[in-house]
Amino acid sequence: MTNLSRRNLIKATAATAVGVAAASQSSIASAAGKKVVIVGGGIGGATAANYLKKMDSSIDVTIIEYNKDYYTCFMSNEVIGGNRDIESIHFQYDKLKAKGVNVIFDTVTNIDAKGQTVKTKGGQSVAYDRCIVSPGVDYKWEAIEGYNADVAANSVPHAWKAGPQTKLLRKQLEEMKDGGTVVIACPPNPFRCPPGPYERISQIAAYLKENKPKSKIIALDPKNKFSKFGLFMDGWKRHYGYGTDASIIKWVKADEGGKVVKVDAATKTVTTDSGDTYKADVLNIIPPQKAGKIAFDAGLTEGDWCPVEHKTFESKIHKNIHVIGDSSIASPMPKSGYSANSQAKVCAAAVASLLNGVEMVEPSWVNTCYSVIAPKVDGISVAMVYAYEGGKIVKVKGSGGLTGAYDAELRKREVLYAHSWFENITADTFG
Ligand code: FAD
Repeated sequence: MTNLSRRNLIKATAATAVGVAAASQSSIASAAGKKVVIVGGGIGGATAANYLKKMDSSIDVTIIEYNKDYYTCFMSNEVIGGNRDIESIHFQYDKLKAKGVNVIFDTVTNIDAKGQTVKTKGGQSVAYDRCIVSPGVDYKWEAIEGYNADVAANSVPHAWKAGPQTKLLRKQLEEMKDGGTVVIACPPNPFRCPPGPYERISQIAAYLKENKPKSKIIALDPKNKFSKFGLFMDGWKRHYGYGTDASIIKWVKADEGGKVVKVDAATKTVTTDSGDTYKADVLNIIPPQKAGKIAFDAGLTEGDWCPVEHKTFESKIHKNIHVIGDSSIASPMPKSGYSANSQAKVCAAAVASLLNGVEMVEPSWVNTCYSVIAPKVDGISVAMVYAYEGGKIVKVKGSGGLTGAYDAELRKREVLYAHSWFENITADTFG
């Protein structure tokens, strides 16, 4: 490790205040030329690449990502609600490349843990000293009869990965007649972005209220409660008449037969576990989720997700491979972009420390999830700081918090905070 990169490691970790790796003064091995391959250039993967280069520029960092264009899921609900242009959530890899990160656009088909090599669909074989895997989520298509990747891409979008399906759902809402019914199927726990479906319901309700006031949303849910429950309920009452006959939103919980088990894409009709059927004009199914496919193909999963050592995010199954973001088991942290970003910094610090043969000090993490219930005027948030205790991630008592009782000025400020968080985290991730 050069003096400069040692300084960078200390500076970068101190600046982020998470995943602080202490550079000990003795027995420092050189990481120069050591190779880190990152599978997936989404929030976790891109952040890890960015921070590895900041911490030790001598490490050879390569991202392998199958899309040249990344659309953030966060703020994609605003695109669906018609309050934001899709270009504003579009990111590419030029800034990371300019910082010295190699980017290969290809699909990773396997990770050879013994041979420490990543294989791609395009026939490349890329060797690594440490591999960081952040492939996001995949879907349990078998959980809902009649629903599959083709149906999702063409007529019944999940829009739970932002991009073409975000545009499709927006287009369908624009084309829907006034008096139409939007049916949204919410997913069971655990899933990416716990408040996400309810923010989407809010954003669509705001669009209908303004543009198609005779229309309704029916939200079908396999749960009886969800993230920021009281705040959403209160907001839906305030803005969308929830609980009255004139409500734009009807929420059907698990106890009322809210679990969708079957989809007929041709008629846009869903059937729930209680045998009830609902016909939609616009149908949005958010399916049950599991770790990204490559995590299963590489043997990194136990059940649906990837077990990891929380201090380093190294896989509990395969040495020298780290899993971060939605695919990892990092409870009590939620599966969120902010979590993925925070875990990526801890993981980058761990990898930089391991490659340099220096001790890592105790990590900490942070998460905030904003949701906009009504455009411009009503934002809410939940925040938490996490520490490493007894070999695992724990919530720091007394840290974080939840938006309090309604205050018009404060709620407007929360919307501004949400938007400034978006600007900051995307700059922090993609450089
Ligand atoms: P991703 O960001 O999905 O990145 C995974 C990447 O891996 C993708 O680019 C994919 O193309 C690539 N990939 C996968 N497999 C392969 C392979 N085999 N080969 C090559 N590349 C591969 N989080 C928040 O913190 N705040 C919010 O307000 C928020 N809002 C959200 C709203 C919605 C509607 C949704 C759906 C999510 C929201 N999230 C939010 C959650 C957030 O988007 C995710 O938690 C975050 O993206 C997880 O990061 P990741 O790196 O695990 O996965």
